[in-house]
Amino acid sequence: MRQLSLFPSLNTEPPRSEPRLAARQPEAELGPSRIHVVPDGASLVMASRLSSLLREPVEVELTDNAWTMVSYRRVSGRLHFRLHHMFARAHEPVMRALAGFTGKNRRAHGRAIDEYVRQHRDLIKSSAPRADTPLAARGQVHDLLDIFAALNARHFDNQVQARIGWGRRAPGGRRRSIKMGVYFHDHKIIRIHPALDDQRVPRHFVEMVVFHEMLHQVIPPSVDSAGRRSVHGNEFRAAERTFPGYERARAWERAHLHLLLRQRS
Ligand SMILES: [Zn+2]
Repeated sequence: MRQLSLFPSLNTEPPRSEPRLAARQPEAELGPSRIHVVPDGASLVMASRLSSLLREPVEVELTDNAWTMVSYRRVSGRLHFRLHHMFARAHEPVMRALAGFTGKNRRAHGRAIDEYVRQHRDLIKSSAPRADTPLAARGQVHDLLDIFAALNARHFDNQVQARIGWGRRAPGGRRRSIKMGVYFHDHKIIRIHPALDDQRVPRHFVEMVVFHEMLHQVIPPSVDSAGRRSVHGNEFRAAERTFPGYERARAWERAHLHLLLRQRS
């Protein structure tokens, strides 16, 4: 995603329920597309730490689940945790809260975990659209399909395969931040914020936002040996700067951010 401010929690997508803690996870949520495979290192280190805190065998599975941040259950004598990968970087107090969450004082530990999740919610993948979501690409001012096709031919050798469309307008009010675009890896869908479909927003700026989202398909998120997930790593940022309109678009963004933050109608 491409984000304009320091308030990642305020996005303009349809409301969804908050990420939550769950002691036992309903099977329906265990869809394979939600599981993000990360190297074993981080989960083994966490399992060993939790195991010594709880004094019993522990297994840890790190996930990319957007809904359930923490769940655990007993599987043949072992405590099996499923944890969002954000916990791979958690320090001792949070590890203690995770361990404590399985015991009697769940409430207090749950609050500590909630607080950690709140601080790291930018690592939670946006709720994915359905694969058959109808996408409107032709706006009142900008035609996203036209922009996508031109960029694909010019910069990607026509290798990017994705659907693209405008996001829906959210109810009014002044925004503190705006997520200009988002790319859903699982569905290969790009959504662009409808505030950009405005005659005051130049095409070259929309092009940079679309280019950014297309780049996400070419350079997927990477995970290092400590389990840290990087969406806009060095390689991504370097490739983004090769876009010929990059400096111009960034300058426009700095000068006109207020236009995007003010809700039309
Ligand atoms: Zn991005």
